[in-house]
Amino acid sequence: MKSKPGLSTRCVHGGEIRDTHGSPHTPLYQTTTFKFDSTADLLDVVEGRKMGSLYTRYGLNPTIRSLEEKLASLEEAEAAWAFSSGMAAEAALFLAHGRRGIVCVGDAYGGTMELLSAQLPELGIATHFLLGNALDELKSRLKQGAGLVFFETPTNPALEIFDIRAISDAAHEHGALVAVDNTFASPVNQRPLTLGADFVVHSATKYLGGHSDITAGALMGSQPLLGPVWSWRKNLGSMIAPETAFLLMRSLRTLPIRVERQNATAMAVAQAMGKHPRVERVLYPGLPDFPGHAVAKGQMSGFGGMLTIDIKGTYDDAVKVVDRFQLFAIAPSLGGVESLATMPVTTTHHGLPAEERARRGITDTMIRLSVGLEDVADLVADLEQALG
Ligand code: PLP
Repeated sequence: MKSKPGLSTRCVHGGEIRDTHGSPHTPLYQTTTFKFDSTADLLDVVEGRKMGSLYTRYGLNPTIRSLEEKLASLEEAEAAWAFSSGMAAEAALFLAHGRRGIVCVGDAYGGTMELLSAQLPELGIATHFLLGNALDELKSRLKQGAGLVFFETPTNPALEIFDIRAISDAAHEHGALVAVDNTFASPVNQRPLTLGADFVVHSATKYLGGHSDITAGALMGSQPLLGPVWSWRKNLGSMIAPETAFLLMRSLRTLPIRVERQNATAMAVAQAMGKHPRVERVLYPGLPDFPGHAVAKGQMSGFGGMLTIDIKGTYDDAVKVVDRFQLFAIAPSLGGVESLATMPVTTTHHGLPAEERARRGITDTMIRLSVGLEDVADLVADLEQALG
């Protein structure tokens, strides 16, 4: 085989261990602890002379280690840590690397915003927020001191695109590290570490899991940078469960075919919605007239399965559309095989005051769509009947 197998091959074979019974993939080690032949053998693992299985909360469990090797290979990272959720991964990253201050660029998931704006400052961690239209202030903000720049691209729910290379260069010039939440794109469409970022974080609950049936998170990066995160994960107890790790590995083996189909369907839905008389605008990075299209084209190999439509009319009109869906389910998550629809004003951005939503460009008439694996004609028909 060539030295670096392609992404689909890595999804199937990356990190897999073969057991003595001939299982074609890593079995589920549903155990909390592992026994040793002698105290000397145990001390080899405890004192780090040998990599081995020890205790599941530490991540020293073969199913979890196997998953982490696969996750690392997907993002072209040296290493990966798996977590019990995307928020657990972010929290451990911020606690390990955010103490010199965190700059959050652009809009971010509501839980991330709450952690950054309300909880970390209580621990004395300074956090700063720069919306996309204030990006030219990044360098002056970095000059005042910050250890970590964090952003999503594409963002939720406006699908705003940030230039990973440019932001990474600016941050590194000022001694800050860069973490990209790659949840919306998935490693099939975008690999931020290859564009200069230091960390990639995922809510594996979304595309990586892909079936709306597991909650998990992942953090990828270099070995030395991930090192300090390990103790936070261990002592916060935010380890992925072995059975979740097993299910996530099963999902990852089909990640490229799911995401490629979702890319194609989302593009077709975006094009259909662009022509609909009741739709004011369609936010999708794959559309040539989308503001971030050129940057997206440069750093993404596909534009993802997420799009947002902003309909003509009022909040009540948008609610009526959503309530008429028959195939799209009203649900706040994304990335699964079933298509989901949500109004950011009722879910992800519900807690924000109206002025803050307006400042972020979140309207009362936005409907965010997570495109699943149904036939594109059925999804378009559902949107058309709901739009009336
Ligand atoms: N990042 C993004 C972009 C998300 O959409 C979410 C959840 O919706 C998270 C992180 C948090 O992930 P989790 O729900 O797995 O903790």
